Amino acid sequence: PRIGAGLLEGVFPMDSSRPVPDRSDEKPFERGVAWLDGGFVPLSEAKVSIFDHGFTRSDATYDVAHIYRRRVFQLDRHVARFMRSLEGLRFKIPFDHQGLRELLLRAARMTALDDAWIMMICTRGRPPLGSRDIRQCRNNLIVCVMPFIWLASAEQRREGVTGTIGSTMRIPPQAVDPRIKNFHWLDFVRSIFEAQDRGADIAILCGQQGEVTEGAGFNVFMVKGGEVVTPAAGVLEGITRATILDICEAEGIAAQTRQFDAATLRDADEIFLTTTSAGVVPLVRLDGRAIGDGRPGPTTMRLHDLYWQRHETAPWSEPVDA
Ligand code: PLP
Repeated sequence: PRIGAGLLEGVFPMDSSRPVPDRSDEKPFERGVAWLDGGFVPLSEAKVSIFDHGFTRSDATYDVAHIYRRRVFQLDRHVARFMRSLEGLRFKIPFDHQGLRELLLRAARMTALDDAWIMMICTRGRPPLGSRDIRQCRNNLIVCVMPFIWLASAEQRREGVTGTIGSTMRIPPQAVDPRIKNFHWLDFVRSIFEAQDRGADIAILCGQQGEVTEGAGFNVFMVKGGEVVTPAAGVLEGITRATILDICEAEGIAAQTRQFDAATLRDADEIFLTTTSAGVVPLVRLDGRAIGDGRPGPTTMRLHDLYWQRHETAPWSEPVDA
């Protein structure tokens, strides 16, 4: 049977301009698969129109969950966040939470990837030719299961990365809500070049009041006097961030969300970054100065280890091939 048929027939309006390949086995998807327009295609065929407002206006949202050693981590939290993002942007997709979760797992099972990204994207789509009425757009849901893209190498996750406080201001949350995961990355793109120019691995951006926010693909934490602290607002509510806060609570480690500035961060005992794309990443130097003794701190590494342990057990993770 054709993969992608059945489940979605009559549910998702098929784009007749895009042929859905007839696949009689799942081998072509071993190294990754995409679902769009109601069918599964190899990653190389996952394309959108240049007239899609996701492309021309960054009118899109996305989410990335991950598979580690063939187990999916916190899938429901990612799907719930994606559903909130869709609602925030008035996007409509032909799935509810459970339906999307099943589609994601089905796609994951088609691959043979041990470590992978599960990416969901929804774009505005395009209005009929000649119209600017965004209400007439058919929103475009795309799902990909693809090889994991690490934000930090195995060595960096063990030894730490270096950082700089970027001179670019983070886009204010009053303009673009950072809790809706988005591709408005031009502040981050500037910060990535700036970090490279200064010989640092990553840049951390501050907000209008000089408060520390986040960076290109990660949340920021500091440890000061035994307390774990991360910015309370003006950032994506990262699933890794939430997991770390949960772990702190379970382990009796004092943790708080509150605003702090760059000077306070520079003075921290430990700093670490959190992201689906790397877990917990120690930051050992900031703007050329050592944080603590310039080595990954004990609280950071304890949280790092506990985070990865949760990848082996329910309810935090589940097997792909259940
Ligand atoms: N902040 C931003 C801007 C991000 O893009 C990401 C992840 O891509 C994060 C934080 C970390 O979020 P999560 O832990 O859900 O991956």
